Amino acid sequence: MKKILVSACFLGQKVRYDGQHSLLQHPQIQKWQQEGRIVPFCPEIAGGLAIPRLPSEITSRHPVMVVNIQGDDVTPEFLHGAELAVEKAKETGACCALLKSRSPSCGNRETYNGEFNNTLTPCNGVTAAELLRHGIPVFNEREIDHLIEFITMQETPEDPNSNNPHSG
Ligand code: SF4
Repeated sequence: MKKILVSACFLGQKVRYDGQHSLLQHPQIQKWQQEGRIVPFCPEIAGGLAIPRLPSEITSRHPVMVVNIQGDDVTPEFLHGAELAVEKAKETGACCALLKSRSPSCGNRETYNGEFNNTLTPCNGVTAAELLRHGIPVFNEREIDHLIEFITMQETPEDPNSNNPHSG
């Protein structure tokens, strides 16, 4: 059975910058939990940041730079957390990730623009980008239906005759 790397805050763990969680209640997640498929992970905590911590945003993409709202450079912790996320996915055999949208670590597709003015920009968070770079698809909480489809496809046995021109 395929495993899924999941943002720990979705699972009720109080690991967010403000000491809270982002519990995601969805019957499919409960089912996956019961089946032992969920691999909880918080890249910011794994990377060495504390709870609570100041909010951070990505200020540069190439090279990556992340600062907190006081201007302290937290890039090393973000990069380390991203590397550990990839390691965790590989060691547990996770085929994909369900990560919290808009987080500077976990967000896929869009994150805040680095100016702390509540404005989004179409870029991945540091961990989401690293997972994608290693071929691990990332879904957010609004994409659970796509994630379910993806996992179903991964687990559907291939038809041995599908590429056989003489079949049928
Ligand atoms: Fe949740 Fe990811 Fe932020 Fe950790 S880094 S609190 S898992 S969104």
